[in-house]
Amino acid sequence: MFAKNERTEAAITDLTRDGEGIGRAEGCTLFVKDALPGDRVLAHITRPKKTYAYARTERILSPSPDRVEAACPEARRCGGCRLQELRYEAQLAFKEKLVRDALVRIGGFPEPPMKGIVGMEEPFRYRNKAQYPIGMVKGELTAGFYVSRTHDIIPVSDCLLTREVNAEILRIFLEFLKEYRISAYDEQTGAGLVRHLLIREGFSTGQILVCPVISGSSLPKSGVLVERLRVIPGITSICLNVNTSRGNVILGQKVIPLFGDPWIEDELDGLRFRISPLSFYQVNPVQTVRLYRAALEAAGLTGQETVFDLYCGIGTISLFLARKAKEVCGVEIVPDAIRDAKENAARNGICNARFYTGAAEELVSRGCFEEGVPLPHADVVVVDPPRKGCDPALLKAILRMEPDRVVYVSCDPATLARDLKTLCADGRYALRSAQPFDMFSQSCHTECVVKLVRQEPGADRE
Ligand code: SAH
Repeated sequence: MFAKNERTEAAITDLTRDGEGIGRAEGCTLFVKDALPGDRVLAHITRPKKTYAYARTERILSPSPDRVEAACPEARRCGGCRLQELRYEAQLAFKEKLVRDALVRIGGFPEPPMKGIVGMEEPFRYRNKAQYPIGMVKGELTAGFYVSRTHDIIPVSDCLLTREVNAEILRIFLEFLKEYRISAYDEQTGAGLVRHLLIREGFSTGQILVCPVISGSSLPKSGVLVERLRVIPGITSICLNVNTSRGNVILGQKVIPLFGDPWIEDELDGLRFRISPLSFYQVNPVQTVRLYRAALEAAGLTGQETVFDLYCGIGTISLFLARKAKEVCGVEIVPDAIRDAKENAARNGICNARFYTGAAEELVSRGCFEEGVPLPHADVVVVDPPRKGCDPALLKAILRMEPDRVVYVSCDPATLARDLKTLCADGRYALRSAQPFDMFSQSCHTECVVKLVRQEPGADRE
């Protein structure tokens, strides 16, 4: 057992899912911040427990062969890029292992049929969206990112995961706030006006949306801000988002357009999408096309199928599927996203996709998307839930519906494995393939496409 502030040498052999180094010393497991597999470090014990301890790296005694210099000077303090000091190929191997381990340990699949991870060619400047907290740092109005696990802001003018133009937009915005003495929101007291700046760009169209998030109903001198931002090529949309809640949810429900349409457009694989500020849209469009193509392939469509796309957002996967299916029904809980989805079907001339607002688990469990109209039979069900995974009621409903195939697109290997265990219990579905995708290089997040196939009762089980 270690004492707080004790130092010990440790050889790091693995990484936790949050990117902390795992090592052993004196019979005790250590979780060491900023340490990588292959490193030998001098660890400073920060939180000792009975059989394990948390520590931070005081000194690297001998570096891992996979260690590289972080490209961003704030990589260690900032919560976003926990893997920046790990060579990119090793990041990919880590994520692949994360998925495999989750499927083995949580899912109970002893030998998961993994396909190799699909990595990025250019693992920086891939994000089309950023949400910068605005606050006071040492008496000065600042935009940046949160220090890992806190709400303290690190000033970051140019995040290397985002496009260079964001830095220019931030500069103009901060200068504007300072000039007109517009206050930053204070999370502790609830006083002050400006909470975040949201920037989103359609990489294939070049359209940029700039959206200050404020805790009041208007932004003073907003006309001046519009005039200053409009000179930046690509800015086609400026709006305000009103968030008066005290919690740490970033966006509120109300959007006030200041300039242009309150949305931008982007193109994926020849389909054009309208994206409103409150709608979800994948942050890495290059990898998204690959992910969606894999989901489409896993769906195994011939043109005869009825497909449900649950958690459909603005209907991106739905429209990929609709080009190859008889019909697609998309379900999504955010009303603005469903408005976008319907508009997106129309603007792409797709007539065989219908969209419904509501919680997937409720609509599917009660057996109708619309009052009085029973659910059609689904040949294929695609789900793409948020990190917490699918609601148990939805999994039950899917098992009752018995689609031929289930395609599970997941952004959290642990909840994915948990849900697959439910779907594959009793041998009713077999796990046919699992393929990780790196959508979020430098961070610990991992995306995955999984294909499940219904097993005929009495047939040989795989
Ligand atoms: N498939 C889409 C969206 C995936 S993100 C895409 O690739 O862009 C997950 C989506 O699920 C979000 O749009 C979120 O608003 C939605 N969502 C969250 N909980 C939901 C629920 N209970 N029922 C339906 N949709 C939900």
